[in-house]
Amino acid sequence: MVLRYFAFIGIVLGVGTIAAQVHAQQVAPAPKRQLTDVEAAQQAAKQASEFEFLGALARTCLLPPSRSEDTRDLPAPYVTDPAKAPPRASWYAEPAKVFDNLYFVGGKIHSSWALTTREGIILLDTIYPYNSEELIVGGMRKVGLDPKDIKYVVISHAHQDHIGGAEMIQKRFGARVVMSGPDWDLVGKYPNRFKTMAPKRDIVATDGMKLTLGGQVVNIWFTPGHTDGTVSFTFQVLDRGRPVNVVYSGGTALVYEWHLPEWSVKNLQTYIDSQRHLAAKAKESGATVLISNHSEFDNAYNKNRMLAGRGNGPHPYEIGADWVERYFKVTENCARATQLKVQHEAAQPR
Ligand SMILES: [Zn+2]
Repeated sequence: MVLRYFAFIGIVLGVGTIAAQVHAQQVAPAPKRQLTDVEAAQQAAKQASEFEFLGALARTCLLPPSRSEDTRDLPAPYVTDPAKAPPRASWYAEPAKVFDNLYFVGGKIHSSWALTTREGIILLDTIYPYNSEELIVGGMRKVGLDPKDIKYVVISHAHQDHIGGAEMIQKRFGARVVMSGPDWDLVGKYPNRFKTMAPKRDIVATDGMKLTLGGQVVNIWFTPGHTDGTVSFTFQVLDRGRPVNVVYSGGTALVYEWHLPEWSVKNLQTYIDSQRHLAAKAKESGATVLISNHSEFDNAYNKNRMLAGRGNGPHPYEIGADWVERYFKVTENCARATQLKVQHEAAQPR
């Protein structure tokens, strides 16, 4: 018994000594070394982000890519079996009046925006087929808008989380649909994948196009990289009568394939060029607000709730021109870090 007791103490002391050694190793100063090119780009992204764009930082610097080389033409599981749609509690969010003439009619994760004019409504992006009805149509009614007034639906890119409600809105309300040529082609190429979602081919968006309705202008910018035809926007809204300039980033997650390094490096360069293009347009237009079609990038879901308690304080979406510029530094540098990683991986001997 006594022996066993001493053996036990011995083990504890032994473990303690090992733990102390490990600890000593951890606190010993790390040898000075240069950051690798990948780390330097990641560091630049982190410095630009601070706490403001943690979602964009995590998504573009950390998480795996959004796959684009899926060439199967299969309907989404929730289209063939509506019971497979995610539960309502995972996506429902209240609609919100964000500016005098801009309403949020999206969900917790994915956003749709209604820009009102005296001649009707421009809807920026839809959501999935299973929640566009409740969140967009129902949400608009909840905030006092009539979905019959939707004159244009502008789709930033043809992925199911943004084009999902476009066919329904085109059919039901006769809205014109605007999307880029490459993304109209994508929809045409995969009829089953976009079943119940794809509107009839309509207006083709191009870089520098101005969509005008009731005195309101939406400037369309060609920003490929997330899809071959992703578009983004700049436009002006009013905050209690004061003009405020907004930039809307249409596609954010990086698209690349480790086994297709040449294509990936090129596509990431396209993405980087697009971030620079949109950053320049944001700057030219004096944008102080950055919005997107995913809450993880613009924090829309939380900011909508902050709006309720705003009082006479600043508008929670109005971050200023400097932060808008920094957003694009985050996405650009994370794309650069990823591009370097793909290049290094491809250069490894096999
Ligand atoms: Zn997408």
